[in-house]
Amino acid sequence: ADYKHILVAVDFSSESRVVVNKALEIARRNKAGLTLIHVVEYTGAVYAGDIPLPEDLELDQRLADQAKGQLKAMTEELGIPDAAQVVEIGVPKREIVRMAVERKADLIVIGSHGRHGLQLLLGSTANGVLHLSECDVLAVRVGKKRS
Ligand code: AMP
Repeated sequence: ADYKHILVAVDFSSESRVVVNKALEIARRNKAGLTLIHVVEYTGAVYAGDIPLPEDLELDQRLADQAKGQLKAMTEELGIPDAAQVVEIGVPKREIVRMAVERKADLIVIGSHGRHGLQLLLGSTANGVLHLSECDVLAVRVGKKRS
């Protein structure tokens, strides 16, 4: 079956380009749409009950703006339009899966590992997406192969 819309998760680690290039290649072959997502994961938030304190919300927003710039630079180079880039704030695995539903993606392309270390067989975000997603997930092998 052909894929119609591909969501690619970008964490700006050094291997991100490998993951994006693979997604681009699959999108071209399937004549599919493409969305790139980066999730700002701000773990240092101080909560008053369930509500994050105002200064933390501002920091999240600043980080999101910075990420938008980084994503724009990456996509400009690759000729990907603005509408194909999204930055969300939250828990990466949840936001990635939510965006896949929102954009009706039928394939999520993700790195096998990102910034959360190579000691695991599959990174925690990649693993979480695989568990939560209802569509196909391609984990692009990045980093050294385990022997
Ligand atoms: P990890 O599971 O964190 O080692 O990362 C594996 C892959 O998940 C990365 O190569 C990215 O494709 C994706 N990923 C991790 N963190 C994020 C993030 N904050 N935003 C978007 N994608 C992410």
